[in-house]
Amino acid sequence: MALIVQKYGGTSVGSIDRIRNVAQRIKAERDKGNQVVAVISAMGGVTDKLISMANELGQEPAERELDVLLSSGEQQSIALLSIALNEIGVDTVSATGRQAGILTSGSHTRGRIEDIKPDLINNYLAADKTVVVAGFQGTNPDGLIHTLGRGGSDLSAIAVASAVKADLCQILTDVDGVYTADPRVVQKARKLPEISYDELLELASVGTKVMQSRSVEFAKKYGVKFEVRSSLNENPGTIVTEEHEAMESVVIRGVSIERSQARVTITGIPDTPGMSGKILGSLAEAEINIDMIVSNIAHDRLARHSFTMHTNDLGRAQSALKKVLDEISPEAEIETEAGIAKLSCVGIGMRSHSGVAAKMFESLGEAGINIGMISTSEIKISVTVDEGEIEKAARVVHTAFNLDD
Ligand code: ASP
Ligand code: MG
Repeated sequence: MALIVQKYGGTSVGSIDRIRNVAQRIKAERDKGNQVVAVISAMGGVTDKLISMANELGQEPAERELDVLLSSGEQQSIALLSIALNEIGVDTVSATGRQAGILTSGSHTRGRIEDIKPDLINNYLAADKTVVVAGFQGTNPDGLIHTLGRGGSDLSAIAVASAVKADLCQILTDVDGVYTADPRVVQKARKLPEISYDELLELASVGTKVMQSRSVEFAKKYGVKFEVRSSLNENPGTIVTEEHEAMESVVIRGVSIERSQARVTITGIPDTPGMSGKILGSLAEAEINIDMIVSNIAHDRLARHSFTMHTNDLGRAQSALKKVLDEISPEAEIETEAGIAKLSCVGIGMRSHSGVAAKMFESLGEAGINIGMISTSEIKISVTVDEGEIEKAARVVHTAFNLDD
């Protein structure tokens, strides 16, 4: 007998029929002799609907009230799923975040899980009941409801799995698992049997959205191994786990793309202390997220900085920069380029293999694709290319690293 925590997202419980389907899946686990704690989201679309109603009534609805309101979405779905389970003979009880002992800190609408006191869940399990827990919510030490940020049910599931010491934690969703690349772009993409926390986090930071990053960070911190799999079929998914030696034999785990990027280059910056801080500070103040940064000094002893950002931020970045540049130097100039995209290769194997970047660049060169900027971290190499070439670039690199099916 195993204790399994299963998380079902909003799409999986999005209609009466789908709730019945989830109930059948849980029953199948019970029939195998396993115990189940299900952590679920609100029915798909409900959270958005509640937010838009709040925004109709108030210009800036109080966050305390938003938490009371939004947490009601999950309160509906846990009761409905419990009813469906009891109907097919699975003895089930629901638990709100508070009843499940989920204790939070932080502020309203952005709560963090501090601790879980799973006494009630454990009592129900001891009585051999199935428990359905509301995701996305908990209570703070004053007993006020906190929600955990959009997509927060993933976090609830990982935390509950850790608290009840589950044998297995499954994130059941509308994707089949984690792929070597987006299958819509790279037709030969493969589902990965396994990926490390860090690789999934890096892929998420460059555009591969599988689940909320905070939950992956939490899983890493508490060593919760979990599986991402489909709620619509029985296929095995992808195990997300701590890295182990065998994982390093693969050089690149996956490639990811980000479209709609823009580059800003500033030239003619005096080569004196404080300049970079001023320039980047002005962008930070304008709340612009910049991504890749490349700087160097030209033969005339003037520095140049290039960075990338989302195209939507380009206009705001230009006005923020104009102001500081007027201050720092009459020679400084801004040059911009939109219509670029970023391609990243991620893999812990690059720590122990050499020539990984060279191989990536060579494969792009042979395909006639020009590389703009380059940046690297310990387990990631990113380049920019023309947006029109990004899909081809992804396929070329995917093939070069033997990731094709
Ligand atoms: N219902 C919440 C949302 O839509 C939490 C979740 O789905 O994970 O963001
Ligand atoms: Mg959702």
